[in-house]
Amino acid sequence: MLNIVLFGPPGAGKGTQSERLIDKYGLIHLSTGDIFRANIKGETELGVLAKSFMDKGQLVPDQVTINMLRSEVEKHDSPKGFIFDGFPRTNAQAKALDELLENLNTSISVMLALEVEENELKVRLKKRAEVSGRIDDANPEVIENRIRVYNQETSPVKNYYQEQNKFVGIDGIGSINDITERLFAAINNI
Ligand code: AMP
Repeated sequence: MLNIVLFGPPGAGKGTQSERLIDKYGLIHLSTGDIFRANIKGETELGVLAKSFMDKGQLVPDQVTINMLRSEVEKHDSPKGFIFDGFPRTNAQAKALDELLENLNTSISVMLALEVEENELKVRLKKRAEVSGRIDDANPEVIENRIRVYNQETSPVKNYYQEQNKFVGIDGIGSINDITERLFAAINNI
């Protein structure tokens, strides 16, 4: 199986690039942000809980997120692989993901980390707010908080994969096609 963690700060292009990777490699896309938003739309109990954190730009608690991710992974019978988009965002999540995949006799193949500097992220998120309809894109304070949470809690997850020799940094600046080509090249190199 090819199991990819697509990593990067908010606005780095994880969603856009995930679509390219799914098409090319036939992977199952699991975006925790998308799953939470679907639950909010469906007014589920999980959605109500997740919304109270997401609207402030905070992380949904680990145990809730891990349980949700586990049940999504278990929905699929003999998949070619997964692309994890927006997960793991903490070391506890990374550990839980390793355990979950180990039970399926597989593991993470690589973490591809899109690297984009902070000012560019803010420009992109502002632009995305005009089309996404996402509350957390529209409010500059919430954007600041998401970037702060990324730097403090999520960025250290890189070390977790670095220690396993699975970390690959990808320049996230340039055209969408150029960035996709960089990702394809990195995957061909595994
Ligand atoms: P995203 O669509 O990946 O930008 O995620 C939007 C929001 O959903 C985040 O700001 C968090 O509030 C929540 N979220 C998504 N994925 C996770 C995760 N792995 N752990 C905790 N919260 C998450």
